[in-house]
Amino acid sequence: MCGIVGYIGKNKALPRVLTGLKFLEYRGYDSAGVAYIIDNEIKITKEVGRISSLEKLIDEDSNSYVAIGHTRWATHGEPSVSNSHPHRVGKFTVVHNGIIENYLKLKEDLKKKGITFLSSTDTEVIPALLDYYYKEEKNILKTIKKVISILDGSFALGIICDDDKNNLYAVRRGSPLIVAKDKDGMFLASDVPAILSYTNKYILLDNDEIVKIGEDCYQVYDQNLKEKEKELKTFEGSYDAAMLNGYPHYMLKEICEEEKVFLDTLNYYVQDNAFKDNIPEFKHYKNIHIVACGSAYYVGCIGKSLIEEYAGIPVYVEVASEYRYKRNFYDENTLVIVISQSGETADSLEALRKANKDGIDTLAIVNVVLSSIAREAKYTLYVKAGPEIAVATTKAFLAQTTLMALLAVKLAKKEELLKEFQGLDKKIKELLNRSYLDYALDIYQKDNAFFIGRLVDYALCLEGSLKLKETAYINSMAFQAGELKHGTISLIDKGTPVIGICTNSSIAPKTISNLKEVAARGAYIIYITNEKVNDEFYNKVIYIPKVHNIVTPILAVIPLQLISYEVAKLRGCDIDKPRNLAKSVTVE
Ligand code: GLU
Repeated sequence: MCGIVGYIGKNKALPRVLTGLKFLEYRGYDSAGVAYIIDNEIKITKEVGRISSLEKLIDEDSNSYVAIGHTRWATHGEPSVSNSHPHRVGKFTVVHNGIIENYLKLKEDLKKKGITFLSSTDTEVIPALLDYYYKEEKNILKTIKKVISILDGSFALGIICDDDKNNLYAVRRGSPLIVAKDKDGMFLASDVPAILSYTNKYILLDNDEIVKIGEDCYQVYDQNLKEKEKELKTFEGSYDAAMLNGYPHYMLKEICEEEKVFLDTLNYYVQDNAFKDNIPEFKHYKNIHIVACGSAYYVGCIGKSLIEEYAGIPVYVEVASEYRYKRNFYDENTLVIVISQSGETADSLEALRKANKDGIDTLAIVNVVLSSIAREAKYTLYVKAGPEIAVATTKAFLAQTTLMALLAVKLAKKEELLKEFQGLDKKIKELLNRSYLDYALDIYQKDNAFFIGRLVDYALCLEGSLKLKETAYINSMAFQAGELKHGTISLIDKGTPVIGICTNSSIAPKTISNLKEVAARGAYIIYITNEKVNDEFYNKVIYIPKVHNIVTPILAVIPLQLISYEVAKLRGCDIDKPRNLAKSVTVE
């Protein structure tokens, strides 16, 4: 995934590039590096670990006015200094975000031509190819055009050529890249937060556009190297939204924004208990496929419950990395819904492209405006979560769940249900104001935990269990409440935490029986429900407010998120940047 930042201008480049990279650490953070020009010489510094480790090796005050930098999430080759970017061959120095799928073949061919490689990355073939073809083309733009015609895969590239140290060059296909301008200089970046400390004026590059960036100007070229006009846009979001605002972690800050996120998403689509006209009048689909990855997949599971229950349309939820390779049973009566926070999730994007190519109606549910999935779907509905920095999703999950519930109402043609969304913000606030530390103290020293529930509660269990795994590194499993005894119950031991969720009174007796079965085997039960129970089969209980079933999941996920946060904190985990993860998974 990685983050790229470049700067060229009248101000010192290194502080700008390093500041930008810190804002992009959510995209990857196993190693980092910069290439900068000083006294007309190019210098490269790289280090394993965070930007803060790289910073210690650099004199930010150096008289350098041109630099490119990179924070990496390794896909090819372990995180090491030699594999970190920038990579340099001959006259070309490159930072890369993405994957070069045909790199092995390219590397073999280049080796035969006598080129040696210093890293085990896919990236290094790019500067090698640039240097090789530059000798033939003798023109930087023509060389870049030639090289990208050879590359398969995805890339965003920042390039410096020794023969033109007064310009940066950049190009992208698949991976995102923006060019931004402030009064004294120009920036290159993978995402807007990287430049917001300096400017909010930017352009988004399209696939295969090449850009040449000078200290106060830029020129975009199309695939045939024809000059292209592209005007700067203004980013409307606020700088504050990307800052911590006094919270110890982004995860907590973002959970605390859920009341607002819920209202923003609701009010964007609904006014006076009626839909505005920004949700399409969908035709009557006979079936729906929901395709997504990770937490977005679990939103899909919640969506399945709600759409089947209220709209009476069968819904099949599939993991995108499977869907894109399997035989799909869809036709003109199918709607394929793709859910992704970033709108760049590689597997979800490819699943969407497959459905589009087969002529199936597609609907994107995304947070990031104008992201690839948003642009390529037939219909797009945005959630209004704002920038989400913590790697583990929370507020975007709640916003997506809200939109799923609205979509269920829309597909069911039961607008009267919209009144059930009224006042939910106050109940969200009430849940956010409670302390969950007590429950976390019961869990944080355990090696295993289980979440059990039926139907929509099971979908919530999946999300609760993932949150605990990814933020607190506790091995946890989610099970359909009735399924546990068919084998997995053998793992329940004295003191094993079992979080039981039941938000539907019609199935409560069954879920409670299942919880008693594990209690009888020594499990420590935390019961999350919206109905008083007299029978004290649990060790602890969390009552969430009783609301209509169509909006219940929006409330029920909050204690799950906050318990995971507290457990992760007690265990001293790196809450906002858990190990091995990255925010937007733009690789297969
Ligand atoms: N494939 C490149 C590498 O492993 C870039 C990785 C990325 O974009 O995450 O170094």
